Amino acid sequence: MAEPYIIKMPKLSDTMEEGTIVTWEKNVGDFIERGTIVATVETDKAIMDVEVFREGYLSGCIDVDSVVPVGTAIAQLVEKESDVSGDVAASSSAPETTAVESVVEETVEAVEEEQDAPEGAYAVKMPKLSDTMEEGTVVTWEKEIGDKIERGDVIATVETDKAIMDVEIFREGYLSGPQLELDSVIEVGGVMAYIVKDVASVVNKAKSSSAAAKKVEATSTSTKPIPAGTDKAKTHIAAMPSGATPAPRPRLGKASPYARQLAGAHGIDLNSITGTGPDGSIIAADVLNSNVQKTATKRIFQVAGEGRAMTAMEKAVAHNMEYSLSMPLFRVTMNIDISSLKAASKAKGFSLTVTLAKAAALGIEKHPSINAVYQHEDRIVERDSVDIGLAVETDGMGLVVPVLRDAANRDLADLSANWKDLVDRARARRLKPDEYSNPTFTISNMGMMGVSHFDAIPSPGTSAIFAIATLGPQGMPVTITADHRIVNGADAAKFLKTFKELVESPTWLDTAATSVAATAAPQASGFTLEKGKYDYDVVVIGGGPGGEDAARDLVGDGYKVAMVNDAPFPGGECLWRGCIPSKAWRAAADKIRDRAHDKLLGVVGTNKPELKWAALEKHRRDVLETRGGMALNTDKGVKIDVIQGFARFVDAHSVHVDTAGNSKDPHTRDIAGNGKKGKTISFGAAIIATGAPPFVPPILGAHDGVEAGGVLTSDTVWGLKKQPMKVGVIGGGAIGVEMAQIFQDFGSKVLLVEGTERILAEVEKDVAKQLTDILNNDKRLTIVTSAKVVELKGKPGEMKLVYEDSEGKKKTYSCDYVIMATGKRPVLEPLNLENAGVAVEDGVIKADECSKTNVPHIFAVGDVIGGLMLAHTAGQQGRVAASNIAGEYMAYNQDKDSGVIFTRPEAAFVGLSTEQAKAKGIDAVEIKVPMSIDAKAMITGETQGLIKIVADKASHKVIGVHFLADHADTLIGEGVMMVSADMTLKQVGDAIHPHPTQTELFGDMARRLGTRLRRTARRNK
Ligand SMILES: Cc1cc2nc3c(=O)[nH]c(=O)nc-3n(C[C@H](O)[C@H](O)[C@H](O)COP(=O)(O)OP(=O)(O)OC[C@H]3O[C@@H](n4cnc5c(N)ncnc54)[C@H](O)[C@@H]3O)c2cc1C
Repeated sequence: MAEPYIIKMPKLSDTMEEGTIVTWEKNVGDFIERGTIVATVETDKAIMDVEVFREGYLSGCIDVDSVVPVGTAIAQLVEKESDVSGDVAASSSAPETTAVESVVEETVEAVEEEQDAPEGAYAVKMPKLSDTMEEGTVVTWEKEIGDKIERGDVIATVETDKAIMDVEIFREGYLSGPQLELDSVIEVGGVMAYIVKDVASVVNKAKSSSAAAKKVEATSTSTKPIPAGTDKAKTHIAAMPSGATPAPRPRLGKASPYARQLAGAHGIDLNSITGTGPDGSIIAADVLNSNVQKTATKRIFQVAGEGRAMTAMEKAVAHNMEYSLSMPLFRVTMNIDISSLKAASKAKGFSLTVTLAKAAALGIEKHPSINAVYQHEDRIVERDSVDIGLAVETDGMGLVVPVLRDAANRDLADLSANWKDLVDRARARRLKPDEYSNPTFTISNMGMMGVSHFDAIPSPGTSAIFAIATLGPQGMPVTITADHRIVNGADAAKFLKTFKELVESPTWLDTAATSVAATAAPQASGFTLEKGKYDYDVVVIGGGPGGEDAARDLVGDGYKVAMVNDAPFPGGECLWRGCIPSKAWRAAADKIRDRAHDKLLGVVGTNKPELKWAALEKHRRDVLETRGGMALNTDKGVKIDVIQGFARFVDAHSVHVDTAGNSKDPHTRDIAGNGKKGKTISFGAAIIATGAPPFVPPILGAHDGVEAGGVLTSDTVWGLKKQPMKVGVIGGGAIGVEMAQIFQDFGSKVLLVEGTERILAEVEKDVAKQLTDILNNDKRLTIVTSAKVVELKGKPGEMKLVYEDSEGKKKTYSCDYVIMATGKRPVLEPLNLENAGVAVEDGVIKADECSKTNVPHIFAVGDVIGGLMLAHTAGQQGRVAASNIAGEYMAYNQDKDSGVIFTRPEAAFVGLSTEQAKAKGIDAVEIKVPMSIDAKAMITGETQGLIKIVADKASHKVIGVHFLADHADTLIGEGVMMVSADMTLKQVGDAIHPHPTQTELFGDMARRLGTRLRRTARRNK
């Protein structure tokens, strides 16, 4: 056989280094003529065609969305059709296995040595779809032998011990036999069929009952093997309408559970059917083959054109709707004033959708006929639990109806959390069947789309549906469409009246919000602040970004607030020892570094920059003192009672403020006293915002070094009297990396030692990797990862840093000072938290997304609760605490938080990386551009780095933006708005960005990723 011709990722632009496969325009096995476009790839600039100038059969194509370096194989052309293989040409460059794929690997496994199995096939195994499932029955094959299977296709449905569920496949290929016959029962893990890579390997054969599969309903028709060579050999059973109730058992003889369910779904009377199963029992095939069904349900309308196959979801909806035509329906409308419920929901922080569902559930409890369903034939099933389905519009997937189970008995916080989770997963196509099937009652709210009046069709198995239209002059029209076999007109009217009362006077909301809250700690169990009862309504402990933002919001809301801070001025670590002083040093370092670019623009003749340490330090201190003074004046001006002292809890409603050690030096903290001097103040609510000082690990000589001054921390580095010429930095987090590069820019020689294998754990992995390479290229800076510092010795100005490198070799680095940047940890003992009963977990105060601790009226924010230890995070959590104290629900969402590492170029992030999104079950895609293609970057010579946008494939919403770029601290603002406002790629792409600015890159990337997703979706149809 002639050698295959390798199709490689072409270099389609000067700057292109890698490309993303967007579509395969030809299929594996297709004959390719010279000049044929076989694929499209996305470069750093555009989506471009891959044209081939050879002939042959296309073979071994790598997956769509794979990112492949230029010059790497993406497919092959082979001479003979028989040489075609589905083997990917460059598996090493295929994308990493996602969380979803690894789950599915259990369902689709490579076949080793199995009789009858096609060569190189993957076995589709009976999945374990519930905890108790041990075997499953093959109900339908949704794909036929020989059909092309795409990732995410539902290929079959199986009946478990609980429900009929989809078998979804996450491997591409062709469905091949031996394929298990319908109605076969097979144990979990047993082989149902195979996936082969190329169409030529498909085996058209059915699998008869065997050791792996036992047939329960053996009949001559259904056990007949599929004749080889016939591609239409399989019996195709229509998808089961969800929520269908089984038909009653036949008067004579037996019927299988699935036969009953099918008969119920299609309105067929089992008494009219003759069974062909064992002992004459009726099996599924009898129902499907029955003339009754054909005459009962089918009326064929011929429509011109080819048509496309419906998706499983479209089929299910169509069949449901067809079946609902047999329901005798009637409608009743009432106008309802929604304003009270809307205001109360907002105040408590619950979505109106959830409170409407709760009101409906409470109404149904009073009118149980609404909670019943008609069952064939002439039976009524009265349900115990009120399960409310709420229609959700999804981008690209139509309408999904997740179900809030037992909505009458669950509290609103619980329902809200459940609802948020259901909607997120519905949009990511990750709902399990029991989460969207069998509601008792459904609500469709088109009011938000401005629809003035409509009615809806209830699904089979439900009693009725609400159609909620938009608010008009008469109120909000709510129409109930009900199944007259179980609900009569008067019942519907009474239920609607009860619903109206519940909505118009939502006094039940307090009970519903708090009744179960007690079990759902740390939600506040009815915490209401009694204003004026204590010395202060709220005491805030700590005057950093977390405490100060909370205190300002609270006084703005009219509360009497004390802010206790153990320093003369507010600002905390951020102002005095963190963000601001470090950025003052960075600004000086930038000036030095930027001179390097001057020559590029023809600006010459300036002297080599020189750093005057004393001048820089004076300026830095002036900035801090000015800002500290401004902050104190503002705090006092807005009437915060600022108390200088150290607070300790006396009990759950008071703190002792120790004023013994009040220092006057604005630059130092003042961890005061012996408890003898000072005063005790009482409070209605407290916010702990005491931060987290630098952590010094137990390295030999480290603590002595800190005492003696040769080892500096982020608290003490600001005391340096002159610029050190050699610096050792321990820790590759944000503080360590920033410090390391600042000193290298100042002209010092720097070694940074990091224990793990990468720096900057919080930033996106490509960003961290590229930044490491860039930093290592800095003249005087070396970064060593996977290394362990074993000893620090010496004295200030003459230190030795001893470490073992990744191979365990001991090395010694001599330097003037060691900067210890090994993280920050709260110091909690002095707070006497036990006196107030505040719980601590893993060394930080335990607080939820509302900043609530386990004690309902005590909140904690910022560094003291762990997580992202950043100033704006602390500020946001402070505002969240203030809002919840004031009775308005607000929550902090880390998935939308952001950060900037002030290196050159700057690393920055907002939202999720692709890896993080996939770990959360979101099908995420990303697009990146290198800064080297940007005109502005080229002009200034700031071409290092990249920008990445991460989007949710299903909704096209931007869920993350990641940067390694100069000016990322400014550029990130647009990313923050995209993520926080849930903007779609289209919205970002349609926004008009000014030229020439780097913000244009956002529009370009969004348009290109949008195009890629549309093209892939079109191709997959
Ligand atoms: C070198 C460095 C650079 C940084 N750069 C950035 C940056 O660029 N961007 C960013 O977002 N973050 C940065 N940070 C982090 C930022 O400083 C912190 O995340 C932020 O200050 C945390 O705010 P906070 O309100 O939780 O605590 P803090 O700012 O630490 O404030 C806590 C305050 O409480 C006081 N206090 C403690 N205990 C008591 C008590 N019992 N009674 C009274 N008062 C008490 C403390 O003295 C302090 O004033 C940096 C940190 C460092 C060290």
